[in-house]
Amino acid sequence: MTIEVVLATHNQHKVGEFQRILGAAMPDVTVVAYDGPEPVEDGVTFAENALIKARTAAAHTGRIALADDSGISVDVLGGAPGIFSARWAGPGRGDRENLELLLAQLSDIAPEHRAASFHCTIALVVPEGLPHGGSEHVSEGVWRGRLATEPTGANGFGYDPIFVPDGYDVSSAELAPETKNEISHRARAFADLIPALRSLL
Ligand code: IMP
Repeated sequence: MTIEVVLATHNQHKVGEFQRILGAAMPDVTVVAYDGPEPVEDGVTFAENALIKARTAAAHTGRIALADDSGISVDVLGGAPGIFSARWAGPGRGDRENLELLLAQLSDIAPEHRAASFHCTIALVVPEGLPHGGSEHVSEGVWRGRLATEPTGANGFGYDPIFVPDGYDVSSAELAPETKNEISHRARAFADLIPALRSLL
């Protein structure tokens, strides 16, 4: 028997990633994309936004739902871009513009004050009517590092070319994808999520 878990995203790449990571630990789990009304993501933290999405998907499908929210937080900017990471340079702008704006904003900041972290939050919501109905769990993964002064590397996406993880002297876009997948904020969030999901199935 397979257990279907709904992922609150229309991004098939994300569905594939969740399937690969969860499926490796829990072969009975199949991740399906949520197809229903979109909630307004009006939270002010990664956790609030992930919970808003997962609650909506759980309520509309009657299935266990997952949703993630992630981004980069720069210490000297008080945690920005944070939940605004995907649209930092404005609507319709891409990864490159976001990253260039962030570098410009930090142009006067010395290397020792360029600390930053990637955050990944995954919310898990069990709808009423299922065993453990009403249960919610929030998994958070943080990956500390610092911002470089110019982009390097071609792997990854988003802010990877300017993020140098603690313990490395290359950007996360220069790491092999397998290495990033083992140590990233996302890996850490999944390490917490998997036992929580297991306990609810
Ligand atoms: P989300 O898909 O709404 O969670 O947006 C997350 C945004 O944060 C992405 O568009 C990226 O800009 C940034 N981000 C999150 N995780 C990573 C990562 O692993 N590498 C680079 N950028 C990331």
